[in-house]
Amino acid sequence: MAGPCSAETEQQVMETARPLAAMGVGVFRAGLWKPRTRPDSFEGVGAAGLPWLQRVKTELGLPVAVEVASVRHVEEALNHGIDVFWLGARTTANPFAVQEITEALRGTDVSVWVKNPINPDVDLWIGALERLNRAGITRLGAVHRGFSAFGATAYRNVPYWQIPIELHRRIPELRLLVDPSHIGGSRDRVAALAQYAMNLDFDGLMVEVHCCPERALSDAAQQLTPDGLQTMLQRLRLRRPQVKEGDLAVLQRFRDDLTRIDDQVLELLARRMSVSDRIGRLKKENNVVILQRERWNEVLAHMGAVAREKGLSDEFVMKLYDAIHAESIERQQRVMEDSPEQACTRMDDDVDNKLK
Ligand code: PEP
Ligand code: MN
Repeated sequence: MAGPCSAETEQQVMETARPLAAMGVGVFRAGLWKPRTRPDSFEGVGAAGLPWLQRVKTELGLPVAVEVASVRHVEEALNHGIDVFWLGARTTANPFAVQEITEALRGTDVSVWVKNPINPDVDLWIGALERLNRAGITRLGAVHRGFSAFGATAYRNVPYWQIPIELHRRIPELRLLVDPSHIGGSRDRVAALAQYAMNLDFDGLMVEVHCCPERALSDAAQQLTPDGLQTMLQRLRLRRPQVKEGDLAVLQRFRDDLTRIDDQVLELLARRMSVSDRIGRLKKENNVVILQRERWNEVLAHMGAVAREKGLSDEFVMKLYDAIHAESIERQQRVMEDSPEQACTRMDDDVDNKLK
């Protein structure tokens, strides 16, 4: 799916759509009603652009998709024969809006793509898909466009790939596209993100393409030219779902190795936790605090050094040890808790003391 962030003029729409149709793009996208972060930005041409999209459909035979965020958008688009819709990230985050749009689409046979909500919440994403599905919209798909984050990051919208991967795990039959344009936020990042998505076996891409990106009225920095898209698609390596027959046995051996190692990792973690419990009991007997900050700083410094030596990334090892440390503390807290008998004795003592 490809096309401009926004439809701007009939000429821009046609100039962009013609080469896309020629290169075999599946669906032409163009935003008419643009949800902008700040007022005074270009908010789209609105319903005035619908006849331009109809022209793309009839003259070039290309299905066209628009973003809908309200009942009015749905009605106007349906009246103009639009049959592919997408819900934008800000809309997916709002169950009232999703429900109203769903009601407006009920009984139609259109195809709907749901972008992830701006916040990294897989249930909210699934909730929007469920609302549509329950209203009989079965031609459903999802679009991963990254998530908002505070402060500067390497992306416009952070991908948190685990979230679309989790969506796929929960609804394996759902088609999933990646929108590398809104994740990357700049033209030069689009190709690498698209390849990353193909390596993860996503079903396709939604890419912003404009006949003259520098002059685009929205998202100018991230749109490709039609030629740029063609080059990217030619270079994109599609991976097969499985290794070659002859390599299956090799892969299986590697996987068996991983399983054995994982068993050992868990065995070691269990042993580590039982040592930690014993330390907890010792701390309890000595009535000392659980968190020994100096000790923890020493552990982190040591693990950082070992990680570097072993070629593991600092970030990964720190995340891992944060989780291990949190679990250790949790277990020592439980050790510190009085057993029910001890708690009763302590209460009796308190009562005795008061009576005295
Ligand atoms: C868009 O596709 O142009 C758009 C506004 O997307 P999102 O909802 O992902 O921000
Ligand atoms: Mn855009």
